[in-house]
Amino acid sequence: MKDRFENYLKKHHYHQFDLKAVLFDMDGVLYDSMPAHARSWQQTMEEFGLKSTKPEDFYLHEGRTGSSTINLIFQHELGRKATKEEVKKIYDRKTELFTRYNTGNTMPGAAQVLDLVKSHGLLPVLVTGSGQPSLLDKLNDNFPGIFSKDTMVTAFDVKIGKPHPEPFLMGLKKGGELSPNQALVIENAPLGTEAAHKAGIFVIDVNTGPLSDDILTTAGANMVLNSMTALNEKLSDILNIINTLSA
Ligand code: MG
Repeated sequence: MKDRFENYLKKHHYHQFDLKAVLFDMDGVLYDSMPAHARSWQQTMEEFGLKSTKPEDFYLHEGRTGSSTINLIFQHELGRKATKEEVKKIYDRKTELFTRYNTGNTMPGAAQVLDLVKSHGLLPVLVTGSGQPSLLDKLNDNFPGIFSKDTMVTAFDVKIGKPHPEPFLMGLKKGGELSPNQALVIENAPLGTEAAHKAGIFVIDVNTGPLSDDILTTAGANMVLNSMTALNEKLSDILNIINTLSA
């Protein structure tokens, strides 16, 4: 496992890690919300007469802003972007359905991972493209005392969104003007992984959805685990390795 971290340092021309923060994606990492996202996107598209998508596609799009997802499907199917009004109508409907379908269940192991990160003196930072109030407002109930406004990057902060590195660069900033070798990213989706990789940060993927590990590795994952529970089991070892590669 150590070679993954050594290879990262070498590739990014760092002599060592200086770990201060762990940047967490939300959907599919902290919350088991991706099935409800995929289902509500798919139903919304069907209701608006857009027929080219299937539920799995939304696992590939995961991490895009709502408007970017809608525009991509409009471009593909109708050869044009959606109007502002169309984006609003579609996204409002998707949000309505998501609120109905989402169980609100957290990902098994997520709370333990967050606690472990904190107990190691590291700062947990949220980096999500989501603007779903039904999840964002619950974060403090589900994970008490972990995130504050100052340590959250959401759809309301970012202009471009994943797969652009912007959200993770903002995450580094909110973490305390950090450089990439001072953080780790926990992601589950190809576009989020690509964004974190482009931001120059070591990315650990938890593959909690239907996509193959290869897709995540190709997107730039430095390590792929199959669940947050698996990450919880490995995290102390990972932090020990990083410690041996620090000044
Ligand atoms: Mg995600």
